[in-house]
Amino acid sequence: MADVRIKNLHKYFGSVHALKGIDLSINDGEFVVFVGPSGCGKSTLLRSIAGLEDISSGEIEIGGRVVNELRPRDRDIAMVFQNYALYPHLSVHDNIAFGLRARKFAEPEIKQRVDAAAAMLGITALLERLPRQLSGGQRQRVAIGRAIVRQAQLFLFDEPLSNLDAQLRDQMRSEIKRLHKQISTTMIYVTHDQVEAMTLADRIVLLRDGRIEQQGAPLDLFERPLTGFVAGFLGSPSINILPAKLVTRGAYRAVVLATGEVLALPAARRVAESGADAEKAINLGLRPQHLARATQDALAPGLLRLLTTAELIQPTGTRTYVTAQIGGTEVTAELGAHDVQAQNAPLELAIDMNRCILIDPITDKVL
Ligand code: ATP
Repeated sequence: MADVRIKNLHKYFGSVHALKGIDLSINDGEFVVFVGPSGCGKSTLLRSIAGLEDISSGEIEIGGRVVNELRPRDRDIAMVFQNYALYPHLSVHDNIAFGLRARKFAEPEIKQRVDAAAAMLGITALLERLPRQLSGGQRQRVAIGRAIVRQAQLFLFDEPLSNLDAQLRDQMRSEIKRLHKQISTTMIYVTHDQVEAMTLADRIVLLRDGRIEQQGAPLDLFERPLTGFVAGFLGSPSINILPAKLVTRGAYRAVVLATGEVLALPAARRVAESGADAEKAINLGLRPQHLARATQDALAPGLLRLLTTAELIQPTGTRTYVTAQIGGTEVTAELGAHDVQAQNAPLELAIDMNRCILIDPITDKVL
């Protein structure tokens, strides 16, 4: 087990500045997920920790030891890759045992560790098979087994589930989370899939263009994004962004949409940078989950009614996604499965202004 400290890490590939001063502390036993769009630098950061990339400047410390000059094999880490990298001619048992044999462990110790890992992953019955006789999910379990038997102080996962179909991915995700609870080793996991990041992480580190945009507990990032980028990256379907104006008249504040509708903000709602009497261009962020079908009953404080039309209806079974226009912008609302029946029918939505996000369109900062 180990903590990880990264100080002012820069990485250049020729003229490409891939990591631009990363400072990050990961606690012993923590499950941290690096997430972000393609090319943001998450794999480069993971590979730098592993020692598979030379860094240009900065410092990486694992378990209190600076590892900048250490070869990957001397860093006491175990890595699981997207392509399982199993030896095709070796049985499952020998694949899992390979690293231990290379390190000259005694055979009884190897057997004991392989059996324990296989039992943990539910692959005991497969130990004599060759990789080609396994399904994708079973191969991924073998790759994880190979990492477990090393009993390394740090586990690194590089998009380990992206080759699996959706159902298997869900299942393996739970297994990896359970594994972390069981062995409590520090884990760092790279993915571009925000659902994977949300469900697995103790802490998400969201990268953008070689920098950390925001880090924190999954729900923290989802509910309190610091930028429009973070608000847009997390959440499915994505947050709706509507060009609007924030109007302040003394203690009264409202969002005025491009088509003129006035959405009053709850009095208790704090807004940074809003002057006493001012008008300011903003982007209004409304998550699909914060739009509901308005009923006849009085709405709770902070909820506003708005009449629109259900243009497109997409049932998922549990919830139904409805596309409609608000303020001249197409938005998605996540409604109850039976809330809307007919395409092009009038739809009265309740907008939860307690939870809307106001974004400065120039700086991208959440107000
Ligand atoms: P993806 O999800 O697509 O794998 P990523 O976030 O993992 O993306 P990286 O692979 O870390 O991104 O790449 C970060 C940046 O560094 C990108 O601009 C990429 O083009 C560049 N890069 C990565 N590896 C190399 C390399 N070997 N040579 C030159 N540029 C590279």
